[in-house]
Amino acid sequence: MNELQDDQIEELREDLLALREQLEKLLQSTQESSRPVDLNEPIGRVTRIDAIQQQSMAQAGRRAQELQLSRVKAALAAMASGDYGLCRRCEEPIAYTRLKVSPESPFCVDCQGNIEKLK
Ligand SMILES: [Zn+2]
Repeated sequence: MNELQDDQIEELREDLLALREQLEKLLQSTQESSRPVDLNEPIGRVTRIDAIQQQSMAQAGRRAQELQLSRVKAALAAMASGDYGLCRRCEEPIAYTRLKVSPESPFCVDCQGNIEKLK
């Protein structure tokens, strides 16, 4: 099968490290805006609904970023133990082209498709 070459792994490691830094910065910068809306704050009703909506969007974004960050960390850990690039579900190698797009993917295209169908 398409096992990853050493130089490909090295490249993906750099991608993962850059991604981790980017996500950590992003999560830090959005920390402030996802604070719970203070319902006692004397702002208008419309403004409050707006604030709550914006906040829930910010929170959903943060959750996605946190999930991605934990995948990035898991991928780096897998790299350290030498089993990076294998699908967590079927244990087949994940295509390099897929990892190049999202180096933190824990699953191959087929398994990802199956998992999404189950949702
Ligand atoms: Zn798979």
